[in-house]
Amino acid sequence: MKRILMIGTGGTIASDKTNDGLAPELTSKQLLEFLPDIEKVCKVDCVQPYSLDSTNIAPQHWLGIAQVIKESYDAYDGFVIAHGTDTMAYTAAGLSYLIQNSAKPIVLTGAQKPIWFDGTDSKRNLYDAFSYACGGCGGVQIVFNGKVILGTRARKTYSKSFQAFSSVNYPTLAVIDEGRILQYITLPQTAPVKFYDTLNANVGLLKLVPGITADVVQFMMDRYDGLIIESFGVGGLPEYSDFYTVIKQNVEKGKRVIMTTQVPNEGSDLTVYHVGGRLKRTVDILEAYDMTTETALAKLMWIMGQTNDYDEIEKAFYSPVANDILHFGN
Ligand code: ASP
Repeated sequence: MKRILMIGTGGTIASDKTNDGLAPELTSKQLLEFLPDIEKVCKVDCVQPYSLDSTNIAPQHWLGIAQVIKESYDAYDGFVIAHGTDTMAYTAAGLSYLIQNSAKPIVLTGAQKPIWFDGTDSKRNLYDAFSYACGGCGGVQIVFNGKVILGTRARKTYSKSFQAFSSVNYPTLAVIDEGRILQYITLPQTAPVKFYDTLNANVGLLKLVPGITADVVQFMMDRYDGLIIESFGVGGLPEYSDFYTVIKQNVEKGKRVIMTTQVPNEGSDLTVYHVGGRLKRTVDILEAYDMTTETALAKLMWIMGQTNDYDEIEKAFYSPVANDILHFGN
């Protein structure tokens, strides 16, 4: 029988009522008591590094989860991480860089309703996560509402209903129906597993809004080592305020900038319009193309944990990890 390590971190799935709303109280061991049949599927050990609403999960917790998996990697066949849904896509992206080429499944799951709630999605999601950890593909993935989504491609797209996550610019890997896995895409891991234990979490995200001025970019550049700018459409910068000069000067001082789009699907292409073309051609910035914002952010943190050299960052950013980027340039 397969051995699975369950890593509890909190989230709605583990939440109970408090006077101020739901808060994570149940441990992974207590969650398992709601799934008595799981012992027919696999042998589970439980650890509880955190009990947090995922709003409180930060890059240091991604490092903590990766460390737990590293220390127990050889002893288990797969890993199930119970996590809040709100920042699960960020954690999935972070773990996709901190743990690479894992032949063993590393499965994040959670729920929109607590496990004790009538009609909860918790039991199904947990059960599916264990089934996938036993019989699915290696690598970091989210199992939710019967879908398996690659860790670098997930985004929370519904705040309340059970279909919380979508796979962005990439197909769903598998569906799970009553414990049966229909694997559409397999991800063979050819190299040995590799763990990383550093990140530069000093990376920020700025969403452009109509009328925003360049002093806001300067404010963010003063605060962060790296900045993701979520632009409009395929990408560009407003020309009514001197965004171009602010970004150019900061990049020359060693700050790193990634341009991406706030449009949910199909990604960026800065070369299409005048508002993006000059920036792309003349300043050492990168663009996320078909990567999600969550993934671009986690990838820049991972790369800047190792280097601040522009050429090295460029090479690493455009080198695919766990199919995080498929299209980069024409
Ligand atoms: N606020 C919760 C969390 O992210 C939401 C959930 O788990 O669904 O921890």
